[in-house]
Amino acid sequence: MEKIRVAVRVRPPVTPSDLNGSHWKVDDNCISLHRSLAGTPLPPALSYTFDHVFDQDCSNSSVYDLLTKDIIHAVVEGFNGTAFAYGQTSSGKTFTMNGSENDPGIIHRAVKDIFAKTNASTNREFLIRVSYMEIYNEEINDLFVVENQKLQIHESLERGIFVAGLREEIVNSAEQVLKLIKMGEVNRHFGETNMNARSSRSHTIFRMVIESKGKDSGSNDYSTLDDAIHVSVLNLVDLAGSERIAKTGAGGVRLKEGKHINKSLMILGNVINKLSDGAKQRGHIPYRDSKLTRILQPALGGNAKTSIICTVAPEEVHIEETKGTLQFASRAK
Ligand code: ADP
Ligand code: MG
Repeated sequence: MEKIRVAVRVRPPVTPSDLNGSHWKVDDNCISLHRSLAGTPLPPALSYTFDHVFDQDCSNSSVYDLLTKDIIHAVVEGFNGTAFAYGQTSSGKTFTMNGSENDPGIIHRAVKDIFAKTNASTNREFLIRVSYMEIYNEEINDLFVVENQKLQIHESLERGIFVAGLREEIVNSAEQVLKLIKMGEVNRHFGETNMNARSSRSHTIFRMVIESKGKDSGSNDYSTLDDAIHVSVLNLVDLAGSERIAKTGAGGVRLKEGKHINKSLMILGNVINKLSDGAKQRGHIPYRDSKLTRILQPALGGNAKTSIICTVAPEEVHIEETKGTLQFASRAK
């Protein structure tokens, strides 16, 4: 098992003048938090070191290049890969995964990169399928087909762990995939009154399954023909907002959503923590305790490559959530 790559990204302040910046500092791949009291930083600071810390000026392009590109390339070679965005609502998870018109996000870049790689391959041919799902209140919904709701997870010898009834589209170009994702985004917001409401309370998994086999070159030299079929899975995951629900005094629907989110993120943390602990005390890994980890199970253990980008907000009001996110990130290392 390879080390899980963990990075932190600080988004720009919503109001540019809002950045007093006295409570946090980025120094190379280290971020430190000072709890400031009436403007006076109080020592000692809490410092955390990661594979990368991206400050507010970095682009999605540099996040992709430094954190995710290798994983995408490995997936084309036959490894499984998963990239997560973790953080409180409004910290920049969706910006990182989906990006903007000017600075496309990780999903867009991964899709382009995968087609560039597979199209350029001279010795293998590829079959690529994509699916897009949401986990909301521990229910799995298909983002390609609105009617496909409350889907179940099954396991068979032939298919391994899979979501029964989930639409998988066979795709031939990056443009086709990006169009499908756009459609999925519309479905994601279906029936939503408040734009940021449901989408920040659900996990979304965009998945590409890449199957390849050696091309018959027509030569008689069979020693060079690798005719084994490789199947690899890439998951790009935009997690539900990690903010603690209790302090908002939520009730009813919000409270139920919050409990599901807190529980599934905690289980994800436990699974990742066990995996990154290495073989020594691996023991039982609680994949089955949540839909999210169960679905991702085949692409988390074994020879899979995993990265987590933890997004944080720079404003001082968010310091407690930022601390929580950095603690999650530290446990994942
Ligand atoms: P989340 O998905 O974590 O709830 P969003 O990605 O929706 O958060 O980000 C909240 C707002 O901040 C959005 O308007 C988004 O465009 C903006 N934003 C987030 N990160 C960045 C960034 N790195 N650069 C510019 N704008 C960003
Ligand atoms: Mg979001």
